[in-house]
Amino acid sequence: MIVIGGGLAGLSAAVSLAEAGWRVRLFEQRPFLGGRATSYVLPDGEHVDNCQHVTLGCCTNLEDFYRRVGAQGKIKFFDRLLFQDPQGRTGTMHAGLLPAPLHMTGSFLGFAPLSRADKKSIASALLDILRGKGHTDDLDAPGGISMLQWLQKRKQTPGAIERFWRVVLVSALDEELERTDARFGVDVFWKGFLSNRSGYRMGVPTVPLAELYDGCKVEIERRGGEVNLRMPLRAIHFRDGGVSSVEFDGGRQEFADAYVFAVPHEALTDLLPEDVKQQEPSLAQLGNIKVSPITGVHFWFDREVMREPFITLLDTTTQWIFNKTALYSGKNGARKEKSQYLQLVISASYNLLQKPRQEIIDLCLAEVRQALPAAVKANLLKATVIKEAAATFSPEPGVNRWRPKQQTSIQRMYLAGDWTDTGWPATMEGAVRSGYLAAEAVLRAAGTPKVILQPDLPPDGLVAMFA
Ligand SMILES: Cc1cc2nc3c(=O)[nH]c(=O)nc-3n(C[C@H](O)[C@H](O)[C@H](O)COP(=O)(O)OP(=O)(O)OC[C@H]3O[C@@H](n4cnc5c(N)ncnc54)[C@H](O)[C@@H]3O)c2cc1C
Repeated sequence: MIVIGGGLAGLSAAVSLAEAGWRVRLFEQRPFLGGRATSYVLPDGEHVDNCQHVTLGCCTNLEDFYRRVGAQGKIKFFDRLLFQDPQGRTGTMHAGLLPAPLHMTGSFLGFAPLSRADKKSIASALLDILRGKGHTDDLDAPGGISMLQWLQKRKQTPGAIERFWRVVLVSALDEELERTDARFGVDVFWKGFLSNRSGYRMGVPTVPLAELYDGCKVEIERRGGEVNLRMPLRAIHFRDGGVSSVEFDGGRQEFADAYVFAVPHEALTDLLPEDVKQQEPSLAQLGNIKVSPITGVHFWFDREVMREPFITLLDTTTQWIFNKTALYSGKNGARKEKSQYLQLVISASYNLLQKPRQEIIDLCLAEVRQALPAAVKANLLKATVIKEAAATFSPEPGVNRWRPKQQTSIQRMYLAGDWTDTGWPATMEGAVRSGYLAAEAVLRAAGTPKVILQPDLPPDGLVAMFA
């Protein structure tokens, strides 16, 4: 069995197939595992994540994967999400004593950045999602409808759209509301905030991302497999309606009973000959899947400027600030005891792509100093900007019709990747789901079917009673 690509999709397929008794050989082009959800060392020795990554309580397959590779203890879950606007008004989202779906009512009513009219309109839209158990009829419109259209149909106030829906969904889905299929937006609120008390809990790694994958190599090798780094796939060879081999540098060919291609969709398109795309129409359509950017800004201050582990900013370019020193608690940035390392995240950062790095640093520094008064007098020791132009696939209205299944009509060829058909947006959870689904397809074809995919969190509280 050969897996190409050592991101979460490839790793989850490889680990689950190794557990099912297959000898798995994984090939990754880079010198480290983790794909887009990884970390590396800067020339000055600092460990940085490609970008801050977070998970939610509703990401049941990612949680299962972390457990399989012994990384679950490296994720810390938080029950309280803090929001702050430029006027210094704050609001939190956290579960109180009431059962789902009312568990956030207390914090929602006290959310200062939203007006009473904003809250009333939000409550009525949430009720709509609740009534349909995560579905509303207009989601089935041909080609889908955008999240902004969905919100406008429900007469959401400008404040509700900007300071609630946009804040949550641009971060969760990496796209502007007018370019997001409402299906994904509604799902975020159903699975994350309404159906279950713990779906919204935010999990943040307490180590640089690459350290989460130490156990993958161990698991694969323990079962007779291998992990090959610095091995870019150069060609896929086909014969008699199936994959016959894969080729690496120097013309080295490798053969297997099954091949899982877990590379980004643009990379796969480049590797596929035209006649193969004609044979499997879903592969010919991959070019319709667009991508959207995320920008990460890393600041190292000479002193502590922030106590909270993370905070969401409203009405600013900067969307999230993560206190990496606190999250690593003693590791990495905290080496220089009194200094503090913060990471800022800006999703759907189209406006920043063409901006010079220094301009982005100046803009974000001004916003951090406005949000965190202690940063005004602090010296910025150094800063880094990491722009990921193709961070995720864009969850545009109707995008699901372009996403191929993990099993193809081409013999021995399986696909994995957050962009394949999982129903989920481009997330670590989506990537792991795709890897598990690809592994299930391989096992089915081999006549040894097995369920690997984990179920969603079950509805609880009043939702369970009425669902
Ligand atoms: C900046 C940023 C922030 C994000 N934040 C979050 C977040 O907070 N929460 C969340 O859930 N998700 C987040 N995501 C999305 C998440 O990282 C991805 O959805 C997920 O990691 C995708 O995994 P994958 O395995 O499908 O693809 P990838 O991680 O892209 O893996 C593909 C792998 O294939 C390898 N490869 C490519 N071509 C070849 C070749 N020819 N030969 C061999 N190997 C090859 C690549 O090097 C890579 O390792 C973020 C993404 C980015 C970029």
